[in-house]
Amino acid sequence: MTEQSSIAEQARALRDQLNQYAYQYYVMDQPTVPDHLYDEQYAKLVAIEAAHPELITPDSPTQRVGGLIQEGFQKVVHDVPLYSLNDVFNQEEIIAFDQRVKKALGDQVTYVCELKIDGLSISLKYQEGRFVQGATRGDGTIGEDITENLKTVRSIPMTLKEPLSIEVRGECFMPKSSFVKLNTEREAAGLDVFANPRNAAAGSLRNLDTSVTAKRNLDTFLYTLADFGPLEVSDQYTALAELQKIGFHTNPERRLCQNVEEIWAYIEEFHDKRSNLPYEIDGVVIKVNDFSQQEDLGFTIKAPRWATAYKFPPEEAQTYLEDIEWTV
Ligand code: NAD
Repeated sequence: MTEQSSIAEQARALRDQLNQYAYQYYVMDQPTVPDHLYDEQYAKLVAIEAAHPELITPDSPTQRVGGLIQEGFQKVVHDVPLYSLNDVFNQEEIIAFDQRVKKALGDQVTYVCELKIDGLSISLKYQEGRFVQGATRGDGTIGEDITENLKTVRSIPMTLKEPLSIEVRGECFMPKSSFVKLNTEREAAGLDVFANPRNAAAGSLRNLDTSVTAKRNLDTFLYTLADFGPLEVSDQYTALAELQKIGFHTNPERRLCQNVEEIWAYIEEFHDKRSNLPYEIDGVVIKVNDFSQQEDLGFTIKAPRWATAYKFPPEEAQTYLEDIEWTV
């Protein structure tokens, strides 16, 4: 086997393996490996593809957002796609992100740091202030219609404080206390336990029986306006305040940061506070604050260039593994 064909074979094996993991994670809501192992293999594939762009195939997980659509739900076409985020794992990679941003925009950049909530992306549409449709991210372009399930989630307003026609996005998650209670009950009933709150939230929200969803105590944090309607907002930090004002649950821990030092201080602070939060986070999302600057940077095929996700180290990344038998 030549060196080139062995690298091509490695890329193919990684693609197949990652696509299989992603199917279990996104479609079945039952991951077979811990996230950090998925992330390590994904990083290997990214490195191979960067060195050998000719090996990139359309079915590579680096070219696609999320997973497939579960049978049984109506499909929803997203007018504005839902993207993923590029990951970083250390301070050097954050410095490199900041340098890329400043190379394109100049030095006048403010960032917003937000907690990376470990749940499921949702998109909510309101017409004249009434909740009319809710969907999963799906593959980013087509999601699943989970309107009836989302109606059972108490923090989602059925009517806004103003009669706005807007589309908002964020995360639906299961608080840690609900997760522990659910797994205890399932164990006692001889049922399989969920691997972590994220998968429990996904399994609960994408349940064809909405009475099951209603019992699972899900919560939400909204963080993006996909369609502003009449709202005039020019930056992310103000958008979060506006979302809160019109009736959405937003995460209070957001912070404006002027440079990498302030970003890193925020990361360290929440790395320490993480285990005391009542919900699971798997990192910190760093976003360019100004929307016109976001527009200048734009998107890659999979993720915005104006944001990145710092992932916490793996040894602390999985808090609920004791009960799960991974396949590796
Ligand atoms: P991601 O989870 O790394 O990041 C993107 C997502 O972050 C967004 O879609 C959004 O839902 C979420 N998010 C949470 N808080 C946010 C905030 N404040 N602002 C913006 N977004 C926020 O990307 P992904 O494409 O959803 O999933 C990839 C990750 O899923 C992998 O890194 C891996 O850890 C995990 N995964 C695991 C397996 C497995 O088998 N264990 C398989 C596939 C994927």
